[in-house]
Amino acid sequence: MRAQSVGTVRRILCVFPRYTPSFGTFEHAYPLTDGVQAFMPPQGLLLIAAYMPEGWPVRFIDENIRPATDEDFEWAEAVFVSGMHIQRQQMNDICRRAHAFDLPVAIGGPSVSACPDYYPSFDYLHVGELGDATDELIARLARDSTRPQQQVVLKTVDRLDMTSFPLPAYELAELKRYFLGSIQYSSGCPYQCEFCDIPGLYGRNPRLKAPQQITAELDKLLECGIRGSVYFVDDNFIGNRKAALDLLPHLVEWQKKTGYVLRFSCEATLNIAKRPEILAGMREAFFCTIFCGIETPDPVALKAMHKDHNMMVPIMEGIRTINSYGMEVVSGIILGLDTDKPETEAHLLEFIEASQIPLLTINLLQALPKTPLWDRLVKEDRLVEDEGRESNVVFRQPYDQVVDTWRRCMGTAYEPARLLQRYEYQIRKTYPKQLKRPPSSQQASWPNIRLGLVILRNLFWKVGVLGDYKLEFWKFALRRLARGEIEHFIASMLVAHHLIMFARAASHGRQNASNYSTRLREASVPAE
Ligand code: SF4
Repeated sequence: MRAQSVGTVRRILCVFPRYTPSFGTFEHAYPLTDGVQAFMPPQGLLLIAAYMPEGWPVRFIDENIRPATDEDFEWAEAVFVSGMHIQRQQMNDICRRAHAFDLPVAIGGPSVSACPDYYPSFDYLHVGELGDATDELIARLARDSTRPQQQVVLKTVDRLDMTSFPLPAYELAELKRYFLGSIQYSSGCPYQCEFCDIPGLYGRNPRLKAPQQITAELDKLLECGIRGSVYFVDDNFIGNRKAALDLLPHLVEWQKKTGYVLRFSCEATLNIAKRPEILAGMREAFFCTIFCGIETPDPVALKAMHKDHNMMVPIMEGIRTINSYGMEVVSGIILGLDTDKPETEAHLLEFIEASQIPLLTINLLQALPKTPLWDRLVKEDRLVEDEGRESNVVFRQPYDQVVDTWRRCMGTAYEPARLLQRYEYQIRKTYPKQLKRPPSSQQASWPNIRLGLVILRNLFWKVGVLGDYKLEFWKFALRRLARGEIEHFIASMLVAHHLIMFARAASHGRQNASNYSTRLREASVPAE
């Protein structure tokens, strides 16, 4: 559904801020594609765009693709912004530019919902999810599109049921410019890991869309030009296991109908390994990757961070079980925990070797507002506000030692030979278990073939000829070509190249040690 029509018409400019380049946004892969410029279409802002009253013109700009121009601001009567903590500086910058045109600016999304005081310059703060605060914001703008005298804070008390959410306005976004498609089925997570802000922001009882909404969204994503992979951005895909089971047959049907043209991936807790019926359904629906927040292989540390559910199955057994359904595991890892010891680095590298997980997002612990970790560290006087640091946590071990450990782990884990060997393992052991898709005209369409050829040309030239890990690249490439594993070669090499380049910069101190870090790098300059 949309917001009720309110008589007046307002032109709304939705601006999504640039990301600070990070390990998980794959910037180094973009030049190898045919024009990808951004990571995933932002669900929140496209949802708000779709919710605007009938007849309100909406323009959507993702500043990862192009900056909002003077003409955009001159066109608009109000500006909406949304984003995460890591985009804080960029969001404040958009506000400043919009104010130069005397426009009222509203901010919503996870960052302002957790930390309204990060955004003193905005005219409207939309705190919480889509609901009565959104209706109030629309009503106020309809009455008066000038900037209010002082900041107005609107808090959602009555959330709109997710089954009433409109289809996100994918038609406003240039979907071909995104590395991955995104979709959301549920919101919230029943667990309470100490460092995580999801339960505090979105609740412990997951809210859900209807399966029919998801298949309609997938239809729309395809119509609007998405290709390749779609990521379920749900906080935990099995937060409500029955709901996941309800959805999967619909996804299978949709894949059969459309010729298995998309791969799916999602985030889920590692105890998904105890649910063979869910894993089997996911395999049938062509899920190929699951991101699991393994965080650490140390059981003592898992207990301390209240992530005991990771130990419901021995970690290595859980990974192998997921692999046996043809799905690669991507893992989150945290360094800088109170339980870390001098031997943590060696244990982590052993774990990476044994698990054969190619992609692990290794972050330094960062305390987010609205988390039990934040509250504990405040009590212990162990939070620091210093933008020059890699983390706002006063670690138990000396700061330099923790950062050096992180740099060494990144450098070692992503040495080209080691990383490509882990992909070799996945190609031999995991990917053969994937569903054999029936051949379809959609998969063999000319745009798909053309895209593959463009990526191959770029890989061979930019990595194989101009790159600086040619030997490892060609060893890997020739083995794939000899075995006809072109699709696996393209998919793994795109990601591997990003990981190698990012880790190299990180190990030399040129990248953030946390996806959540507020440490700002030169690459995060405003988009003007
Ligand atoms: S399981 Fe994941 S989403 Fe849920 S609270 Fe823990 S870290 Fe957050």
